[in-house]
Amino acid sequence: MRAITQVHKYIIAGGGLTGASAIDGIRELDKDGSILLIGSEQHKPYDRPPLTKKLWFGKKTVEQIFVHDDAYYHTNGVDLALGVEVTHLDVVNKIVETSQGGRYHYEKLLLATGGVPRRLGTPGGELDGLFYYRYLDDYLKLRSIVSEDKKAVAIGGGFIGSEMAAALNINGVEVTIIFPGAYLVDRVFPEDLGQAVQREFVKRGVRLLTGNTSTSIEASGGEFITRTDQGHEIMSDAVVVGVGIVPSTALAEAAGLAVSNGIVVNDYLQTSNLDIYAAGDNTRFYYQVLGKQTRVEHWDNALNQGKQAGRNMAGASEPYTYMPYFFSDLFDFGYEAVGDVDSRLEVFEDWQDQYTTGVVYYLEDHKVRGAMMCNVWDKVPAARELIQSGRQMTTDDLRGAIH
Ligand SMILES: Cc1cc2nc3c(=O)[nH]c(=O)nc-3n(C[C@H](O)[C@H](O)[C@H](O)COP(=O)(O)OP(=O)(O)OC[C@H]3O[C@@H](n4cnc5c(N)ncnc54)[C@H](O)[C@@H]3O)c2cc1C
Repeated sequence: MRAITQVHKYIIAGGGLTGASAIDGIRELDKDGSILLIGSEQHKPYDRPPLTKKLWFGKKTVEQIFVHDDAYYHTNGVDLALGVEVTHLDVVNKIVETSQGGRYHYEKLLLATGGVPRRLGTPGGELDGLFYYRYLDDYLKLRSIVSEDKKAVAIGGGFIGSEMAAALNINGVEVTIIFPGAYLVDRVFPEDLGQAVQREFVKRGVRLLTGNTSTSIEASGGEFITRTDQGHEIMSDAVVVGVGIVPSTALAEAAGLAVSNGIVVNDYLQTSNLDIYAAGDNTRFYYQVLGKQTRVEHWDNALNQGKQAGRNMAGASEPYTYMPYFFSDLFDFGYEAVGDVDSRLEVFEDWQDQYTTGVVYYLEDHKVRGAMMCNVWDKVPAARELIQSGRQMTTDDLRGAIH
């Protein structure tokens, strides 16, 4: 017998920050329309940035990372289906089906399915006990097994690998970080800055295997042996992998929606089926100020794009023109960045205190495309203005422009 179909005005598939923010957006315009959020994790929506930072530094507790408390969902009349996966979309009859056999009819649907960690694809890449680090459950499990006498390997020199190497090091763990690049976070940092950040890692006792790619991982007597293409063999108690994410687009693809490295949306965050919206890490949109189609995997985009999608689902017709920023912390080096911060662009560094406090500008045709404020806070609006102005600027113009 077929399950009875429940009816909701709004259905949100995905219980991350994007999904949670969409509720805020919907409720700004529609106080009553029924909302169902279906999320495959057991937890209600939470922020991921603390998983590599504040939770490890004692600056937040797990209870403090949830986007909304239980009372919020109750007050706003939101039904939560947690630990439940959306498995199929019937876009003709406007029905979503779930792993629990549920069938739900929607008027407007949001795909806020985010992304999943990219897998290693080399021998041992599917061993039990590896951390493809993304979820609260990863944090809870890793936290329960690491202590001061432990060793860890971090694979990947981007945000997750470098932040986790720092977090584990601060917690007394002996860390080796393996990555193919010449220096950490090389897609964003210019080389001299990356090398300076890296020296701090070395000073603090992190072992860096730059120019190395992991080729296999073996489990041996409760430990792991990670081997690299340069002949290194590292024993550790834990292996944390951070080699990027793959956007979760399978549902959209199967439903025939336009997908191209992300679910393609128009300026109003509607997919190629106008009653279905997408936002967050899984979404490819037109970034107006930068004049390009892109996908953004950052917290502030999830927050604001999710909210905008919610507003538009509830009847607003507002283009998403927001310029999201992002942030990271590596030991004492913290920064906020906005725009195109691609180290392949022309770069101008304006330091008040070299490699510690200052602004890195990313330029094309002498116009600012992006800016990274290093230990300089609350200047994202000023950076946005510079980028939006589209003015050609000399290094003399830029020196001291943001401080
Ligand atoms: C460890 C970590 C640290 C980070 N730190 C920073 C930082 O310092 N600064 C920054 O700017 N950004 C940071 N980010 C990025 C930021 O957290 C993401 O951009 C943000 O989480 C994206 O939110 P999302 O809701 O779009 O996707 P996700 O966070 O991926 O959430 C999607 C949710 O949907 C669920 N889901 C997927 N498919 C289905 C389905 N079929 N049915 C039901 N549910 C489904 C998933 O299980 C998941 O819970 C970090 C990310 C991680 C992982």
